[in-house]
Amino acid sequence: MLRLERRRELSEIKKVIEKIRRNEFGSSDEISLSKNLSDLEDEIKAMFSRTQNDIQNLKKLEQIRTEFLGNVSHELRTPIFSIQGYIETLLDGALEDASVNRTFLQKANNHTINLNNLLNDLIDISMIESGQMKMSFRYFNIHEFLKMLETEFQPEAEKKNLVLSLHSPNPKLDLYGDKQRLKQALSNLITNAIKYTELGSIEIGVVEEGQRAKVYVKDTGLGIPEVDLSRIFERFYRIDRDRSREMGGTGLGLAIVKHIIDAHESKIEVVSKTGLGSEFSFLLKK
Ligand code: ADP
Repeated sequence: MLRLERRRELSEIKKVIEKIRRNEFGSSDEISLSKNLSDLEDEIKAMFSRTQNDIQNLKKLEQIRTEFLGNVSHELRTPIFSIQGYIETLLDGALEDASVNRTFLQKANNHTINLNNLLNDLIDISMIESGQMKMSFRYFNIHEFLKMLETEFQPEAEKKNLVLSLHSPNPKLDLYGDKQRLKQALSNLITNAIKYTELGSIEIGVVEEGQRAKVYVKDTGLGIPEVDLSRIFERFYRIDRDRSREMGGTGLGLAIVKHIIDAHESKIEVVSKTGLGSEFSFLLKK
């Protein structure tokens, strides 16, 4: 009698497993076994949901990968087409036309610079995302560090008649982080601040907040519309694609910044108002 019961149960379980294998269940609620097998039913349901989740995630990743490849191809095509266009025009006769030949060469050259920036950012993003970015955390003097950045970016700010200033009241303050990576992140933020500000000033600085300190880059530029705020850290997301390209932007700068700050177990924050300016900031350990 007992053996007969066991055989019936096993056949019931086998049927459910077969149905899962044939993909006949739409959701875990459709899975049902008799009452005395309820523990097993719960386990099978949990396993089913988990697998469904994994499949969903794989599909999402595949979609992100396809989208990324599409974006990369598109971004590469733009400068290559332009360079090709200028060279063809020059070869077709513009080379002898002194009123345009230098301008065309200069434009072609600008596009090769953009192409180079894009490749460098792509290499960085792929290194970071595949976990190959080696981090080296140490205490370093934030005052010296920000001062060095201020000096480095002063000429670029001056070219646009922008005032670049430093707020760093404690010259002895040491913070914990990867100095080289933070230089890359802050350089991206300062470059953006200069790029997207037409009038006014840019301030880089540090403010102590208990056991941590906030490092920030603040500008009086274009600002970022509220709808875009949550998306600007996505790869290739730009508010004004043409403007960004014209200024040599790759659309990858903030994605790289986010990765670097995440690797510091911190979070990049942005406060911005259209027309008034933006402040990007993150906390570091003291
Ligand atoms: P890009 O190479 O286009 O500058 P980023 O990833 O650095 O790419 O920035 C993404 C977008 O966020 C930019 O295209 C721009 O629209 C917006 N953005 C970034 N920084 C600022 C800023 N300081 N002020 C206004 N907009 C900004």
